[in-house]
Amino acid sequence: MSGRGDGLVTIPARSGKATFVRKGDRIRVINTHGAQVVDTWAFNREELTEFMSMEHTRAHALTVFPTTGTTMRTNKRRPILTFLEDTSGGIHDTLIAACDRYRYELLGCAGYHDNCTDNLRKGLQELGLTPPETPSPLNLFMNIPLTPKGGISFEAPVSTPGSYVTLRAEMDLVIAFSACPQDVLPINGVDCKPTEAHFLPLGA
Ligand SMILES: [Zn+2]
Repeated sequence: MSGRGDGLVTIPARSGKATFVRKGDRIRVINTHGAQVVDTWAFNREELTEFMSMEHTRAHALTVFPTTGTTMRTNKRRPILTFLEDTSGGIHDTLIAACDRYRYELLGCAGYHDNCTDNLRKGLQELGLTPPETPSPLNLFMNIPLTPKGGISFEAPVSTPGSYVTLRAEMDLVIAFSACPQDVLPINGVDCKPTEAHFLPLGA
């Protein structure tokens, strides 16, 4: 991958992919088909136990809905990613854990079901890395509306085909994506059909 903008990378449907991003470089995450949730993690490249944290970010950003201008923070409260652009409608989730085998077992799926937790592990494995744990992800394009009384529900994304977010790395990091394989609930669109998505390294 060149990192100069000519290296569109596929996040295959139901699968994961990770890459290194240098401090100051940008990366664009594209909702190619419009309704795909992309679970996103970022780890300090030098020390993987420091990672993007939803709970620490919410304390500083003072919102549960990050969008253009929001800086995401690590579990050491340092900036790690900033939203520079968001053409997707600004609906992303910071509340819901990554799906895992237990989630699908509880939903009644028989046998193995692809899941974002395993996709994180496989994505990092391709880079020779092991995640220290599964941090709560930044769920790009995921639509979890919050009612005034604090209720939540799982809804289809509001994003459209080709819409994207552009993120800037605030430290040398490794970023991992999972095209969420959820096909029981309609979070990847009302037809419950997970698709691929893409990312594009853009340089500084
Ligand atoms: Zn998932």
